[in-house]
Parts: sequence; C-alpha cells; structure tokens
Amino acid sequence: GRESGSGVAVRSRLTVVSGPSGVGKSSVVAELRRLHPDIYFSVSVTTRAPRPGEIDGAHYHFIDRAEFDRMVEAGELLEHAAYAGNCYGTPRGPVEAALAHGRPAVLEIELQGARQVRRAMPEAQLVMLVPPSWDALVSRLVGRGTEDEAVVAHRLAVAKDELAAEAEFDVVVVNADVRAAAAELLTLVLPEHI
Ligand code: 5GP
Repeated sequence: GRESGSGVAVRSRLTVVSGPSGVGKSSVVAELRRLHPDIYFSVSVTTRAPRPGEIDGAHYHFIDRAEFDRMVEAGELLEHAAYAGNCYGTPRGPVEAALAHGRPAVLEIELQGARQVRRAMPEAQLVMLVPPSWDALVSRLVGRGTEDEAVVAHRLAVAKDELAAEAEFDVVVVNADVRAAAAELLTLVLPEHI
C-alpha cells in the first residue's frame, strides 16, 4: 500500500479493485467481506438486467437508462462507465460518508471507472486482480454460462485491454485461489489490521 512520509500507513481510504471480467473479482470481494464485515463495499447502479440470483440493492441497484442519466447529470456518481452495452456507476454519497466516518471503502469496478477515480481521488489505492493465466480467464468466462457467445467474445476482447493497463495500478494481485487473494487484498485495504 501507499505510505506517508513517516512510514505509517495512511488513514482509512478508498481501494479500487479492478480487473478483467471473469477474473473472479466478485468472489474475491465477497470473501473479503466475509473476512472483515466493517469495510464499506459500494453497491453500484447498473442498467444491466439482473442475472439469476442477483438481488436488487445487494449486488447492484438495477435502474433504467433515464434514471442513470439523471444521476450522471446530478453529479450523484463518483465515476461511471459503459461496459458491454450497459451503464455502470458508483453512487458518490455512501462512499464519501463511509470515508468521512473513518471506514475503509472498496469499489469493484472496471478500468474506465478506475481511471476516473484515480483522477478524482489521487489518494485512492488501485488494485488490479489478474488471472493466473490467459487460459484460466477464458475457461472461467466461458464456463460461467451466463452470457451468450457474442457477449463472451466481447468481454474477452475488453479483458485483453484491461490486462494491458496493469502498469496504471498500484498493486497487482494474482487470483489463483480466492481465499489467498482475499487475504492479500485485506492487507492492502486494512494495512493496520495485519
Ligand atoms: P457485470 O455485468 O459482470 O456485473 O460487470 C461488468 C463489469 O462492470 C465488471 O468489470 C464490473 O467490475 C464492472 N462494474 C460494476 N460496477 C461498476 C461501477 O459502478 N462502475 C464501473 N466503472 N464499473 C463497474
């Protein structure tokens, strides 16, 4: 993590977890939540339709395009991006409230959003989750079976670009094992917890 001049880890801050679709971001972040329930985990808004099992208000706030555009216009999103034909964004208020209360906050977002957070909040810590290999990523995306072939092909093309942006991140975490990756992420989100 980033450190202050005295070598002491800076106070509660924002951690952005990014990485290609299929790398297991959601699983790693869910495991991190289990390890440390006091961290604030942002719930994004999206115009995407819910997948089976996804709960409105928990996995995402599922909203329509008009409401999304209204939130952008009103400045209610900390960052937002289009991804695979849908819009995604991070509601600003809850993240700022968590940080103001000294609670570390975690965003799980794609690359365009990570770049916006970098510009808006330079003190944020950017973590990229990467697969142990390209083949591992392909089999995960195909095996998930939640999207049709064209969507998977598109996500793989985007994934290639996302992996190429590794150098823009403060830390790279390899997700070979969900629990190990979550434990590593915890040391980054809460350095004082170790
Ligand atoms: P999915 O549709 O698979 O849930 O998410 C697609 C991509 O959008 C993933 O890479 C996910 O991390 C990203 N994403 C989810 N919420 C947000 C958000 O609020 N902002 C941005 N920029 N990306 C998001």
